[in-house]
Amino acid sequence: MKLTSGLGGQLTVDLGALARNWRALDKVSQGALTAAVVKADAYGTGIEMAATALYAAGARFFFVATPDEGVAVRTALPNAHIFVLDGLYPGASNLYIRQNLMPVISSMEMLEEWLAKCVERNEAYPSAFHFDTGMNRLGFRLNEAVVVRERIARLSYAPQMVMSHLACADVPNHEKNRTQLALFSSVMNQFPGIPASLANSAGLMTGRDYHFQMVRPGIALYGGRAVVGRRNPMANVVTLHAPVLQVREARTGETVGYGAAYSLSRDSRLAVVGIGYADGFQRALSSNNARPGGKMFVNGRLCPVLGKISMDMTIVDVTDLGPNLPRPGEGVEVFGPNVNIDDQADVAGTIGYEMLTSLKGRYSRNYVGTGYLPEQ
Ligand SMILES: *Cc1c(COP(=O)(O)O)cnc(C)c1O
Repeated sequence: MKLTSGLGGQLTVDLGALARNWRALDKVSQGALTAAVVKADAYGTGIEMAATALYAAGARFFFVATPDEGVAVRTALPNAHIFVLDGLYPGASNLYIRQNLMPVISSMEMLEEWLAKCVERNEAYPSAFHFDTGMNRLGFRLNEAVVVRERIARLSYAPQMVMSHLACADVPNHEKNRTQLALFSSVMNQFPGIPASLANSAGLMTGRDYHFQMVRPGIALYGGRAVVGRRNPMANVVTLHAPVLQVREARTGETVGYGAAYSLSRDSRLAVVGIGYADGFQRALSSNNARPGGKMFVNGRLCPVLGKISMDMTIVDVTDLGPNLPRPGEGVEVFGPNVNIDDQADVAGTIGYEMLTSLKGRYSRNYVGTGYLPEQ
């Protein structure tokens, strides 16, 4: 493949596929609002571009992790509703108010700081509340629900939404899902009439019981696998190509790369590809003679990574391509429609989320598929 922008690697983000994925999820969650999670630079795709495409597709509610990410979305989308999952950073309430960001409040300290600001300015600034139902990550403890309700009742304050987060949604029949659903429902009894939100991508795909009034998909929007052990129905959004630097001949018995970790059992042709662990092509995708590693798609064929992945380079076995060898400067597919990022993640012992959010290397970002998006 010819690289079209720049000489180095090229990350192509298909905003049309992103929009289609949002619409497909919005159909599945019919009856609930479908938000979009755009934290971590929209899972590595570029937060402004992704948020803008999602808004054009119909999304109005966005979740970010940090207030800085919130400001980035606000700059792109003056009318979006933006929740900050990390909550209220101490001392930052003026920024949230100025930028019209809603903290997802997860502790009494956060709540008191936000309410104090509301009282000071005599204005009920919107927020969401997060209750922990089984992760011990962020969130009020369950037994704080009554205290929280009584505290806000005295000020006639109401949150825009009350949420929790599933620990095991990627395994739909995990019993923890049912437990968390029951606990969350009991929390919602304390907040009648307030919209509720429990489901991430996997929760959304698990069933209606988990939808409540708003769903919060992230990974599925970006084409990643949300549910383990099922065919992934989402369209591919992210494709990464990296340039071939050199194709070389090597002989049986010679070794490849650092640590001489791979020893050739045949005369071989090797492509040296200009991407390494510094670019997010994780070193865990290295191979040795006992254990296969990652793959790249070269001229119509999946070719195995040989030996250890270097900081800036990866060596791929292209012997089986015969005469159909790539030329220096041509791009090979590192992830994309032919190299499933979740399959590679399995090899690396990680998850597609980490692969995607690790892709912040020395390549240009290329956006395609924007043409048909309707203005709404
Ligand atoms: C990241 C996140 C999501 C989105 O999860 P996916 O598995 O990517 O769909 C939803 N809710 C919360 C609280 C999150 O942190």
